[in-house]
Amino acid sequence: MIRCSCVAVGFIIASAITPLAAPAPDRIVDIHVHFDEKNPQFIENLIKLADRLNLTACLLTPYADRQVVADAAKKYPDRIVPFGYVDLDARDAVKQVEDFHALGFRGLGELEFVRRPYTDAAYMPVYELANRYGWVVLFHTGIVLREKFKEPEDVASDRMRAFYLEEIARRFPKLIVIGAHCGNPEYEWAAETARWNPNLFFDLSGSTLVKMRGRLSDFRRIFWWSNTGEGTDTPDGDKSAFSKLVFGSDAGLDGIEGVLQRYRAMFDACDVPESTRKLVLAGTLAKVLRLRR
Ligand SMILES: [Zn+2]
Repeated sequence: MIRCSCVAVGFIIASAITPLAAPAPDRIVDIHVHFDEKNPQFIENLIKLADRLNLTACLLTPYADRQVVADAAKKYPDRIVPFGYVDLDARDAVKQVEDFHALGFRGLGELEFVRRPYTDAAYMPVYELANRYGWVVLFHTGIVLREKFKEPEDVASDRMRAFYLEEIARRFPKLIVIGAHCGNPEYEWAAETARWNPNLFFDLSGSTLVKMRGRLSDFRRIFWWSNTGEGTDTPDGDKSAFSKLVFGSDAGLDGIEGVLQRYRAMFDACDVPESTRKLVLAGTLAKVLRLRR
């Protein structure tokens, strides 16, 4: 008896002096994390960061790395959602999509560097398949970097303009279409296409939030229709136009927190309601990807 009560007292004292664990930060779901095949520690580093930030990463994965990422996603289902990168111009693009699906991948992205505009008939079989799977598909939109300076390259930002996503969203209503970079610099086109399409969203990754850091309130003019009834259905019936944005970093593991700060600065500059911030940073993607709450 005595011994038991000592244990109990010891437990009470230990509880009293053990500092309470800090509450987990609010969840973040990031649509735009590129798998780094050159870093053998990438998954390990991602998990460490994701645990600290309470982050779930949609991990954009080259076809060659699909098995490694499929295994990691099975091991860390709360931290990694596997997305497959396919070259839309590859002859076996459809087969690659089927292979990704067989391994449990949940979407495609980041589709980019296309030879033809996104709405070209040649790409429809890939979208049809993704639509059948009910997938989320992330497209690059707007200005794109140039990889080669001395050799010719068949790349043009014009083929990846945000307004092409409108047609894809309408033809394939079971798809969730996400445009990376909000059409940089055609933000108005991006926002307007999102306004009338419930299955179309944009992220603000890339140079946009850096370029506009001194004029973040301009986004109020671009996402202008909050509480007006001039938009489509939104996740959770949210009335803010900003609910058409989702969080995407596209900045490497050491850049994710910086992008988060920039999103928050934009929220503050535009008086984005707290409930909408939660949708942008996690809620919308958690819902469309049916993530465990
Ligand atoms: Zn991109």
